[in-house]
Amino acid sequence: MSERAYTPVLVIGAGLSGAVAALALADSGFEVTLVASGHASAEDGNSWLAQGGIIYKAQDGDPSLLAKDILRAGHRHNNPAAVRHLAEKGPEITEKVLFERLRIPFAQRHENHEGEWDLTREGGHSAPRILHCADHTGQSIMQRLISEVEASPRITFRRAHAAVDLLTGHHHTKGMAHRYQLENTCCGAYVLNEITGCVETILADYTILATGGVGQLYLHSTNYPGALGSAVSMASRALVRLENLEYVQFHPTAFYHQDSPRFLVTEAMRGEGAILLNARGERFMPGYDERAELAPRDVVSKAIVTEMLRRGDPCVYLDPSGIRQDLAKRFPTILRHCRQYHVDITRDLIPVVPAAHYFCGGILVDLRGRSSLSRLYAVGECSCTGLHGANRLASASLLEAVLWGHNAAQDIVQRLSAGRVLPRRLRNDIRDWQSSGSESNDDPALLAQDWVTIRSTMWNYVGIIRTRQRLYRAFEEMRDLSSRVHNFYRLTLLSKPLLDLFQGCQAAYMIIQAALRNRQSLGCHQRQD
Ligand SMILES: Cc1cc2nc3c(=O)[nH]c(=O)nc-3n(C[C@H](O)[C@H](O)[C@H](O)COP(=O)(O)OP(=O)(O)OC[C@H]3O[C@@H](n4cnc5c(N)ncnc54)[C@H](O)[C@@H]3O)c2cc1C
Repeated sequence: MSERAYTPVLVIGAGLSGAVAALALADSGFEVTLVASGHASAEDGNSWLAQGGIIYKAQDGDPSLLAKDILRAGHRHNNPAAVRHLAEKGPEITEKVLFERLRIPFAQRHENHEGEWDLTREGGHSAPRILHCADHTGQSIMQRLISEVEASPRITFRRAHAAVDLLTGHHHTKGMAHRYQLENTCCGAYVLNEITGCVETILADYTILATGGVGQLYLHSTNYPGALGSAVSMASRALVRLENLEYVQFHPTAFYHQDSPRFLVTEAMRGEGAILLNARGERFMPGYDERAELAPRDVVSKAIVTEMLRRGDPCVYLDPSGIRQDLAKRFPTILRHCRQYHVDITRDLIPVVPAAHYFCGGILVDLRGRSSLSRLYAVGECSCTGLHGANRLASASLLEAVLWGHNAAQDIVQRLSAGRVLPRRLRNDIRDWQSSGSESNDDPALLAQDWVTIRSTMWNYVGIIRTRQRLYRAFEEMRDLSSRVHNFYRLTLLSKPLLDLFQGCQAAYMIIQAALRNRQSLGCHQRQD
């Protein structure tokens, strides 16, 4: 069974970037279909997990100082236009979307005294300029945002719908007319209804990809379970230009406990005075960088791995005793999580290790969020605006998600208002999904083993420190696995677990190839050869 629908704008992914874009479009009077995979809850997405905060502006308000910090953290591999754009427009968009439209209850310096924000500082920032809601900033923003999305009569929000492939004139049309066009055009997406198993054809004048990051391609990750790089995978099949895929950022401090998932211990703890100790109780960061614990993430992660390897220790420790604030009030989520595993952060050291955290690369987009494929936009973590260069500055990604989500919406509003819709003939010529799979053989043991291969290959060979030998081994492993998974995908009826494996496998393969091609050791792409 297959269904066919049309919408002016299809937004794929309901994290911060996708939901901001959908709401801005709806507020401007346009109908939007917003789809998001995962049926358990609305909380799927890295946006819900953000702890530290979102960049606003320092007390002196000088955007050039923020630009300098972003460029320094990104090793000047950044797109200067994107850096300037965020530094200059960031405060305005924060005020418009987060203060005025959503009324996010960011922490104030003094209780019952509105208007003076409690700005915090994180690694790589030269001044306090980060807004936060204790250590659950993402959750506080997303709760308000999603309730506005749900209340909007112009947004059709379909949870448990996972995008399978982008629809394009070159690849999915009947007849030959569209295949010989020089420019390819995005016409929407095939979307799997995770409950019925039906693949729907959603045709759209404009499509926005907002599916988030890739952290779950690694054995240890701070990301939500669906961060599998599905946008990279779909975009690569549609021959969309991808950029900086090798720059996967590892967060230096994920909670280390054998029974706990790699829960993030926010950088803001170091911003507020926590220090790092090795297993002998020695502070080591000042020996690696003059900024010590407040050096950018790539520097701190590499220092931690070096310390761990030096003596074969399984982790290092974060000592929060230097934090002057009330830990229970400032870091309630971390306190609760650590307590579950018998670590009391008001007394104990916190065992930590680095874990895959943020994807600096993705689908190349301009300042409006337009990609190289006509009518396709990408926003948030799945996109590459060039803002982060070779390494992301802490708390820059939530702002990037809001700003580019909003920009993309404004650009589409202008194009739709000018009547630039998908040509009717192209729309009619798009084929519905045809399943070539007949066998229902998505054996969970096969899928589980393939995931073990992907995650351990990425962790061991495409991790914090890379060599040509490791990357080549990864390339060979994933080339073989990709071809097996591809055959399996063709022969098997589509299901969500199979789709996840297919998307994840292809995204991992693309990252490996980018890492192998780039011989320069820089930022998150550390090569030791
Ligand atoms: C633990 C943690 C803490 C962080 N803390 C901070 C912080 O303090 N400050 C900061 O600036 N950044 C932080 N980040 C990074 C930041 O949260 C993310 O980069 C940002 O929220 C990404 O937003 P997004 O909209 O791109 O994606 P997400 O919020 O990840 O949303 C992705 C959406 O896409 C959907 N999706 C995925 N695949 C498909 C598919 N195939 N079809 C349909 N839907 C799909 C998901 O269901 C979800 O709705 C943190 C990240 C983590 C993991």
